[in-house]
Amino acid sequence: MEILVDGKQVKLRYMKKPHIRNAYLRFKGDMLVVTARDERKAEQIIRENRAWIEKHYRSIRESKRLFDSNSILFSGKRSIALLDRAARNSVEANADVIIFRSKSEDSAERLLDRWLSERSISMVSGIVVSKAGEKGMEFSSIGICRGSRWGSCSSKKELKFNRYICMIPIDIAEYVVAHELAHTRQLNHSHAFWEEVKRMCPEYRTLRKELRNYDSYRRAVFRKLE
Ligand SMILES: [Zn+2]
Repeated sequence: MEILVDGKQVKLRYMKKPHIRNAYLRFKGDMLVVTARDERKAEQIIRENRAWIEKHYRSIRESKRLFDSNSILFSGKRSIALLDRAARNSVEANADVIIFRSKSEDSAERLLDRWLSERSISMVSGIVVSKAGEKGMEFSSIGICRGSRWGSCSSKKELKFNRYICMIPIDIAEYVVAHELAHTRQLNHSHAFWEEVKRMCPEYRTLRKELRNYDSYRRAVFRKLE
């Protein structure tokens, strides 16, 4: 089913629930979902909320400017990311849709950037602390960095991780952490270094290959933000 909004065909899903009194409207991605007890009620709520539907559909279409595919990766899974306008900043993360609300498109974009960075630091700190504790590794600080590297470790044992590392699956992020922690003992990529990595992450060979798959995605999607 489809309806015409702003001269565009919008996909419509009708969910029949015979026992509910009120009808409900929501967008799932760019599809309009209407829940109602019968078709008459469904048609009525669409008719009465035409302005709301048009406003939301317009903001969904605008958000496609930033994300061609209208989605971001989070923990290796694709989520729909929408930028919406609102007086106050807020982030609403559901199972597969994340909505970033702010007063302008630009500030919503900055909100998205900050949100990913915060997710990254909390995810990676958890992994570093548990892995270092478990394997008796020492480090001096954990931070976030921009740029093309997933992680780095200085001679002072300062660990830094990419601000978008929360995009990749946890097990691959665990490899990145093991790699940087191993540098606290070996500031090179020698045989001894890879033995340290292996001790913390036995599956490192496979995970290292899988990490490569995410390099181009990170560069393509976040070029604008970096
Ligand atoms: Zn390295």
